Order: sequence, then structure tokens, then C-alpha cells
Amino acid sequence: MLYYKTKEEIELIRISSLLVGKTLAEVAKHIKPGVSCIELDRIADTFIQDHGAQAAFKGYDGFPNALCVSVNAAVVHGIPGNYILKDGDIVSIDCGVLQNGFYGDSAYTFAVGNIKPEMQQLLDTTKKCLAEGIKQAVTGKRIGDIGEAVQNCAEGAGFSVVRELVGHGVGRHLHEAPEVPNYGKKGRGTLLQTGLVIAIEPMINLGKKEVIRDKDNWTIKTADGKVSAHFEHTIAVQKEKADVLSTFDYIEEVLKTK
Ligand code: MG
Ligand code: MG
Repeated sequence: MLYYKTKEEIELIRISSLLVGKTLAEVAKHIKPGVSCIELDRIADTFIQDHGAQAAFKGYDGFPNALCVSVNAAVVHGIPGNYILKDGDIVSIDCGVLQNGFYGDSAYTFAVGNIKPEMQQLLDTTKKCLAEGIKQAVTGKRIGDIGEAVQNCAEGAGFSVVRELVGHGVGRHLHEAPEVPNYGKKGRGTLLQTGLVIAIEPMINLGKKEVIRDKDNWTIKTADGKVSAHFEHTIAVQKEKADVLSTFDYIEEVLKTK
């Protein structure tokens, strides 16, 4: 079942998605060597509550925290714990909020201190993959157009695309139809129509594409132990150009001052 949102509903999803961007920016201020993942989670949880919203992931299928914090070889769904970030790490912070009955969902992968050039290239490429996917998210295209664009971008740079986890519809539910894979063939899959709101979220590995689930039953990690990156925006499909409802602007303002 696909839900096409009205203009009013899209504006509500924008409010939630912008709060996610502001929350990620608040977290960004504190990302540095020496900070623990659980501290970042507390900062986000408090910030979201102070803005009259709920952390969407907390309690979702029993997930214990407000943020998914995935360090280095962790791809997504990392449980923020006592691990202390150190110079040279990369950390994906994934955040969702529920406000006014609608969800917003976005993720950003941060460098902690100085990272290896190959890791920086992975971050830059994954962000570019997201942008390439968003370019395809226009009325009349198909889900496969997004997947092919993301896959070409990642594999063209020598990286690999995680298959087991995918983007999704967003609205009154955190995860709605359709699934939005980061691989595929153009012209295939669900037709994109105006008002469809989806989260596009490339998960790109430095090494091989295979992933495993950690003993904690949540964290997805690369099978080869090499690092992985993840960027996500919530967008609304529109004619000619997607409307990007979440934003990295607040985050990048913070990063500029670091
Ligand atoms: Mg997310
Ligand atoms: Mg998502």
C-alpha cells in the first residue's frame, strides 16, 4: 500500500525532518575524540524532547535508544554504548523523530578528528550517491532508477553497496512501502508519483558488500571488518525535482566552525 501525501502532510513531514537535521547538528557539536556514544544519544534524546517531539527509534521493535550510532565497520543500527570515539574513527548517526503524527528520518556519517584519505573518499562518495539517488526521485521515474544511480556512483568509485538494508517510505509510520534499494536497474520497480515520501539512504562499504549481524542482535557490520558509511535524506517525489525535506545545512554549519 503506497500513501501519497497531501501538501499539508508533506509540510508536517518537513517539520519533523528539519528537527532531525537540527538534532544531528546538536550532536555534531559534541563529536570529537573522547566522547562516548551514549553521551551523544543523551544529547539527542534531550534535544528532541525539548522541542516537543519524540525520538522515533526509542522502543521501535525494542530498540533501546534515540540514535543509531554506528562506528567504523558498523554499517547501521548500532546501539550507543560506552565506546569512546577516537581520532581516526568514522561514525554514522541515524536519527528519527515523531512530531504532529509524522516521522522524519535522516543520517550523516562524521569523521572523528583526522581520518585516512580512503575513509574521507568513502564519506564523500556516499554523500554523492545520496545526491545522485535524489536526482532520480521525480514523478514518472521508478524505484530502480534511484537504485541504479546510487549503485553506479558507489561502484564507480570502487566501493560496494549493502543489499540487505534499504530505504523506505516515510509518513505516519517510520517505515512504509515502498522499499528503496541502493542497487537496481532503471525502469524497474514501483512508479514514482507526486506526493510519495521516501527515505533514500545509501549504505556503502569500503571493502566487500557482505554484512553480518552482531551478537547484540541489532548492529549490522561489514563481514570483512572494513569501514562503512551511511547518509540519508527524507524526500518528497515531485515533478522535475525532488523536494528534500531533511537537511544537512545545520550540520555543515557546525562542521565549518570545527
Ligand atoms: Mg534513518
Ligand atoms: Mg531510514
